[in-house]
Amino acid sequence: MSSTLDTAYGSSDPNGTGYGGGASSRRLLARLRDVMAGSGSGQERLDKIVTLIAAEMGADVCSCYVMRAGEVLELFATEGLNKSAVHNTRLRVGEGIVGDIAGQARPIALDNAPSHPSFAYRPETGEDPFFSLAGVPILRGGKVRGVLVIQHKDRRRFSEEEVETLQTVAMVVAELVAQGELVNPQEVSSTGDPALLPARLSGTAMSGGLAMGLAVVHRPQLTIRQMVAEDTEAELERFGTALTSMHSAIDDLLAAAALAGLGEPKDILETYRMFAEDRGWLSRIREAIRMGLTAEAAVQQVQNDTRARMSHLTDPYIRERLLDFEDLTNRLLMHLSGKGSGADLGTLPDDIILVARSMGPAELLDYDQRRLRGLILEEGSPASHVCIVARALNIPVVQASEALSRIEPLDQLIVDGDHGQVYVRPAEDIQMAFADAMALRSRKEQMYAEIRGQPSLTRDGAPISIQLNCGMILDLPHLKASGAEGIGLYRTEIPFMVRSSYPDVHTQTDLYARIMDEAGDKPVVFRTLDVGGDKVLPYMAAGNEENPALGWRAVRIGLDHPSLLRQQLRSLLRAAAGRPLSVMFPMIAEVAEFDAARRLLELELKRLETQELEPPSRLRVGAMLEVPSLLWQLPSLLPRIDFLSVGSNDLTQYLFAADRGNPRTATRYDPLSPAMLCVLRRLVDACAHAKVPLSICGEMAGRPLDAMALIGVGFRTLSMSPPSVGPVKTMLRSLDVAALREYMAGLFNVGDHSVRDKLRSFAKDHGVQI
Ligand code: PEP
Ligand code: MG
Repeated sequence: MSSTLDTAYGSSDPNGTGYGGGASSRRLLARLRDVMAGSGSGQERLDKIVTLIAAEMGADVCSCYVMRAGEVLELFATEGLNKSAVHNTRLRVGEGIVGDIAGQARPIALDNAPSHPSFAYRPETGEDPFFSLAGVPILRGGKVRGVLVIQHKDRRRFSEEEVETLQTVAMVVAELVAQGELVNPQEVSSTGDPALLPARLSGTAMSGGLAMGLAVVHRPQLTIRQMVAEDTEAELERFGTALTSMHSAIDDLLAAAALAGLGEPKDILETYRMFAEDRGWLSRIREAIRMGLTAEAAVQQVQNDTRARMSHLTDPYIRERLLDFEDLTNRLLMHLSGKGSGADLGTLPDDIILVARSMGPAELLDYDQRRLRGLILEEGSPASHVCIVARALNIPVVQASEALSRIEPLDQLIVDGDHGQVYVRPAEDIQMAFADAMALRSRKEQMYAEIRGQPSLTRDGAPISIQLNCGMILDLPHLKASGAEGIGLYRTEIPFMVRSSYPDVHTQTDLYARIMDEAGDKPVVFRTLDVGGDKVLPYMAAGNEENPALGWRAVRIGLDHPSLLRQQLRSLLRAAAGRPLSVMFPMIAEVAEFDAARRLLELELKRLETQELEPPSRLRVGAMLEVPSLLWQLPSLLPRIDFLSVGSNDLTQYLFAADRGNPRTATRYDPLSPAMLCVLRRLVDACAHAKVPLSICGEMAGRPLDAMALIGVGFRTLSMSPPSVGPVKTMLRSLDVAALREYMAGLFNVGDHSVRDKLRSFAKDHGVQI
């Protein structure tokens, strides 16, 4: 078994399943042998087999998924699910519980499958009423060839014997699959030419979305033919010319980025240009030329040195810088060879999927953005500059370590940036399935666009304010496009994280003023710097903390380094100049901290007055509720603040002592648990009593079911990332709050781990679109 969490079958048969053990198992096998030996096509025999298994094992459903090329599991036969789903429902390995069984090649037995984290709901199968599920891999020659599943309407624990029987039966089904009548053996053979076979690369999701297109392998490495120079002076001159032409090409990119209104990508490019002018780097190259190398060899040698010196370092910022220098090296070599950019723009296909070992932000922008569909990198992290730029351009990115050895130029590719998967030379039906998924996505987006102008009211007329969480200038167009009422959380740290030094007051003022300009009449809540923990500033010594989540972060840093916080507050006040300003302090753990932060703001207000600068037309100061200690200080906190916003991401981690960054603990506790709901209800009541506006800006506000629960508890302002607006608005417009409140009254004091299932059933019974 993969983990005890996934299993709910014991050594006995506590619920009395009616499945009669050894004798029944032998009878089932005998009948299966009859079917196998009988007449009919492979498909007909498989149809008979699933019917037989369901009947003999007393299951409501028996389904068989068979592995197709590109490691996709296709529903081939079912008894109990909708027949129309046969050959239409496909799951990737790793997707859903069936995909999990195939991925881990292990059985799974669950008494409540819909509550399993891997559960993937497929409406076309009609599997809604089935709660318990047991599935086993169909194995042949050490390979997973499919998955066999039984399901029951009731929540029941499967006995070990039942799972063993299913495993035995799967061996028989494996024989049928191996006969090659169901799927052409060549389709899944691994003995053919791997360069021509479909493949799936499992990697890391770095930017979401789906894309299809043809592989363009980003600039194969240049080979340096001549190492030793004949004329050192001439080489120095060639180097100088190449450097100038590279600088002007970067300036052109910067101008283009500014023209396209790309905020952070422009900042990133500026940092990058700074590297291009790095004296140490340039003088080391010149030194190497003076030693007798050609310009190309000198550039390469300095890069080899840099790589050797920096590669053992694990600091993510330094590793990103290494990639920037690699990018510059390649770029400089291109200019030395007279080719300029690495993107051969003339001969590229219309739908480009770029494949690269690593890539700098400038290199990505070399490609025609109208043709760029997706990016696959062998190296990199979601926080890398190229990923930030790709997200801004809405391009899915997957990091897959073997990409370059498995992908040939102009191979057909599918990039699934949501699940971190790359499909190489996918079979036609897989391409069709993805085309359908992409069409469904755009239909949904169309639907969300249609309700954009509709009022944000529940079915029984409660107004819900939908606000956005933003962190880059590039997010601001969403404010208009989504119809959100304002920005409930502007995370100011992102621009600090992509720079190589702390931005001065002038730079910050410009940035904040631009955000306010872009937001126009819509309010923006600026959260002061929330760095530390996992958000490391490159220019600030991080110190080695054993528990960074409990460490020196957010307002704690601001209070220990008041000049940092004061500079940010000064910039915000100056940017507002005659406009309303809302400021929010993160990670407040005690009222005294809020008071101390507010005092710094007062000092800056005085300074503004002394300098005779225009103050904001209205100043609102709020706190985030993320640390549970604040829950016991509400009577003294609430009269001091203008608004309160719940940071449920951190509040959940601190409430349950479960690190949000640790995959083992991040989802262990559910925000839809009685404990969390009690906390939230208490906050709603206290804020209503004190007449303090309350909102929530953690991730749960953007998940339709969680947002439904929040509305049920009494929240009326939800702040979320832009893609969540459509789904949440669709949900709330179909919700009757009065009925939900009544239903939820019984959920606060139950002993359940989570009330998610109960809330999901409520939504289903009451037609709430989640
Ligand atoms: C939160 O903690 O819920 C929150 C919104 O802040 P962040 O995710 O930026 O820590
Ligand atoms: Mg937080």
